[in-house]
Amino acid sequence: MKPYVPSGKTDDGAHLALIVTVLATAVAVGGLANVIGQFIRLLLVFPVVMGALVGLAAMQITLAKKMRTPALVIGVALLGGLLCWFSDFGLDYLRTRSAIRDQVVLVAADLEEQGLGTPQDEDIDRCVDLALVNYAREWQFGPLQMAVNLLNEPLTDDQGNLAEPEPDPSATQAFVAHVQGLAAIGTTISDVGRADDGNNIGAIGTYLLWISELLIIVCVAGLIAWEQVRQPFCERCKGWFAKPERLVAVAPASAGAAVVAALETGNPYALGQAWSPFDASKPFIALGIRSCPKCPSGRRFVDVAKITVKGGKTKRKSLRKGLVDAGKLDAQLAGLVKAADKAQPKPTADPAKLTP
Ligand SMILES: [Zn+2]
Repeated sequence: MKPYVPSGKTDDGAHLALIVTVLATAVAVGGLANVIGQFIRLLLVFPVVMGALVGLAAMQITLAKKMRTPALVIGVALLGGLLCWFSDFGLDYLRTRSAIRDQVVLVAADLEEQGLGTPQDEDIDRCVDLALVNYAREWQFGPLQMAVNLLNEPLTDDQGNLAEPEPDPSATQAFVAHVQGLAAIGTTISDVGRADDGNNIGAIGTYLLWISELLIIVCVAGLIAWEQVRQPFCERCKGWFAKPERLVAVAPASAGAAVVAALETGNPYALGQAWSPFDASKPFIALGIRSCPKCPSGRRFVDVAKITVKGGKTKRKSLRKGLVDAGKLDAQLAGLVKAADKAQPKPTADPAKLTP
């Protein structure tokens, strides 16, 4: 029994397809979540679904492009999760900018009408950045302040108040200010379907909520990608192993280590020796066997698992997974049936056929 190790190979063009698909999905999902989030935002559900969609994109490309590159697939999925989370903020930022820009454009048109100057697009953008920075300081940014920033020279209003232009903020400062502004407003959590005001969790609560959302999105995306990229692949036929597995019950739960050891030796009698009578209503050891659909006589992928059936629910805990030579496995299974027959001339359940 050899552990399955992905070969690190892929189809041609897989890297680019993975990166483009996952990152594009991430941006689209993050944006969509933001749009829907304007009406309703479900705690937990949103980040889980967002992460799952990013993870599924990574999974699809991994499957289709036959990617056996765990580090790359998982890395891109994690990056996709981060981007998805960030896109949610990004769209919010663009929407806020656009709303402020509308106001600034009005002030600019007014200045032009009064013959005070002709603000250019770059003046307008700079003024929007400044407004965003001020927005974090609770929005003390009226038309006069907009006008001095647009013209980049001091102005006095009717009451003799002097306003001076502010230094250029960087784009990062504007974005950070926007995020701080959002946190300052806080997040209100209320029960679904209830029209009450709910509880505002405050700025720190909001930051913690954002961080937990990020962690959930990234973890869900990464886990789905990880699950796919470690699926067994037949390097000889260049294809994934068939998904449905044959589950063969082999021994009572106490024989788990003996079953693993038997498969390790490859000795045709070892599995039979590990067998002892068992009751399938109690925990038992089973082999989940998967084959390459193109070469059933090649290597099999075996998952030695402890199975517990309780109240109609099947719980499965994997003890060891790996590749086993098909011929050797068949010989061991035949030996197992023989051992069971010998011990119990009329077994209540044929262990090799018992599939819960
Ligand atoms: Zn094969």
